[in-house]
Amino acid sequence: MENQEIQITYTTTEKPKPNAESLEFGKIFTDHMFIMDYSLEDGWHSPRILPYQPITLDPAAIVFHYGQTVFEGLKAYKTKDGHVRLFRPNKNMERLNRSNRRLCIPEIDEEFALQAIRELVRLEKDWIPTAPGTSLYIRPFIISTEPYLGVAPSKRYQFIIILSPVGAYYKEGINPVKIAVEQTFVRAVNGGTGEAKTAGNYASSLKAQELVAEKGYAQVLWLDGVEKKYIEEVGSMNMFFKVDGEVITPSLNGSILEGVTRNSVITLLQHWGIPVIEKKISIDEIYQAYKDGLLEEAFGTGTAAVISPVGELSWNGEKLAINGGKIGEVSQRLYDTLTGIQYGTKEDTFNWIIEV
Ligand code: PMP
Repeated sequence: MENQEIQITYTTTEKPKPNAESLEFGKIFTDHMFIMDYSLEDGWHSPRILPYQPITLDPAAIVFHYGQTVFEGLKAYKTKDGHVRLFRPNKNMERLNRSNRRLCIPEIDEEFALQAIRELVRLEKDWIPTAPGTSLYIRPFIISTEPYLGVAPSKRYQFIIILSPVGAYYKEGINPVKIAVEQTFVRAVNGGTGEAKTAGNYASSLKAQELVAEKGYAQVLWLDGVEKKYIEEVGSMNMFFKVDGEVITPSLNGSILEGVTRNSVITLLQHWGIPVIEKKISIDEIYQAYKDGLLEEAFGTGTAAVISPVGELSWNGEKLAINGGKIGEVSQRLYDTLTGIQYGTKEDTFNWIIEV
């Protein structure tokens, strides 16, 4: 697979580029897409870039019935001088293969997949918006395409990459959000699929999200699926707290998705000499820290928002205000540093950037 050439069919009808101010998340797609097939006989084969178009699948395709599918999410950023950069894309490719192994999907060649992303992004570079905070979201995903109603791994797959220009997550600067601890539903359990990036995890999160949104909260804080006692993630982000000068985050336990941003935040904090500890964190421990006046900051981390500060946490009918509802010092420093590295205004100390 390594040496396969990507065949390109160019579009004959370029779409108009969107206006940077009106960009939302994930609603507009570029002119081209990447696609590659898998069969037992040929392995992964026929990599090609085509005009962006609907795909035709048999109604019995396994993906529709049993959700055998995985995906990734990363971004391409354009610097002031026009360079196009990816942030640690190799981490996303490694995670894609970890998800593949969990879902019994044949692994892809990570180097080749990254090459495919780079070729597609290069072709679509005029679609990358340049207004502050905007970027080109990259969505690689794999679907099981074999028509079969038995519950078994598919014998056929497609690996597809689509691109979507997206607006700044915070249009009026970083805005701390209100979140609520979820006490009924759970996102994942140990032994389940929580540490894989697979559709079912997101489908099962919708109900809880719908119910908290009705009460005015932006996200749910997920607790563990067994005791409903330990903090796991926030919405589809990893969760961090700063308690008495120390940053803590739930340790990877088999039901938490390992975020690329999470890993980068831990590295930066260690580099700055700020204590950071990965451990089991109970909601009671956070409540006690709040009562003792030691809960200094709380924030989620993920590719979409980078750092999402939490201004209020609702738990057991109480509303805990964190840092007076304002963004904390460490949250702000992490946000400025990560976005600075991504957009090329800060030094890439850890060699995280790959130029397209
Ligand atoms: N947890 C979940 C469930 C997610 O979907 C994501 C987004 N990929 C994250 C955490 C954050 O991961 P990353 O920092 O790689 O975007």
